[in-house]
Amino acid sequence: MPLLKTKAVILRSHRWGDADRIVTFFSLQFGKIRGVARGARRQKSRYSGVLEPFGVVELTLFQKTQDSLGSISQIDLISSFSAIREDLAVMTAAARMVKIVESITADRDPNHQMYWALVQSLEMLDPHSDLPLTALLFQIHVLGHTGFNPQIGQCTECGKRILEDPLWFSPRLGGIVCIGCGRNGIGQMIPLSKGSAAFMEQARRLPLACLPRLRAAGKVRMEVTTAIESYFESVVGKPLPDFHSWISS
Ligand SMILES: [Zn+2]
Repeated sequence: MPLLKTKAVILRSHRWGDADRIVTFFSLQFGKIRGVARGARRQKSRYSGVLEPFGVVELTLFQKTQDSLGSISQIDLISSFSAIREDLAVMTAAARMVKIVESITADRDPNHQMYWALVQSLEMLDPHSDLPLTALLFQIHVLGHTGFNPQIGQCTECGKRILEDPLWFSPRLGGIVCIGCGRNGIGQMIPLSKGSAAFMEQARRLPLACLPRLRAAGKVRMEVTTAIESYFESVVGKPLPDFHSWISS
């Protein structure tokens, strides 16, 4: 199957050799794939303006074998989301979102739900909205789309309903644990008030289009951010980068 044709979102692109770029895509049909854009850094390249992160493209990639690096044979821009690059806060949120997808997905593992969630979320980025919260809510959805839904209803280990407040969230187990199970060497535990747990549950259940209605401030925001960041780090094995430096590299 040497020719891969698919819609794809550009997650990132970096320099390669003297004149080329390597582009990482999250594609609808094939999941995360990479391809070389030959001559992309030459003046008057046919790729001019097409390889920017966040762009949605129609892609044809030539790949000799599944493991080899593909070569881009055709790429057409469907949507550049150029407005994203005009506002630093929007770009930071978008960079965070594509990095979330890049970190949690394996190569060649398609996930249609996640593909459309990414496209829809990039479309919805609004400079007047609470952008860090938007990125956090997206992160919660992505965890759900990859089978890592945070378990909030009952103890992740023993299944017991927990009535205490605060609850305790285990990043390693990806859910709340009762005090008894928490004593069994499961590592870090993060306090989660009932309000924070309810917010996380609501964020998980609501469709993406309804998420801009959610608000979180103060303790709830801090607790949910800490729990989700730590859980995500535990799932992918490393923290997300600091995005202000990442987008300028
Ligand atoms: Zn338990």
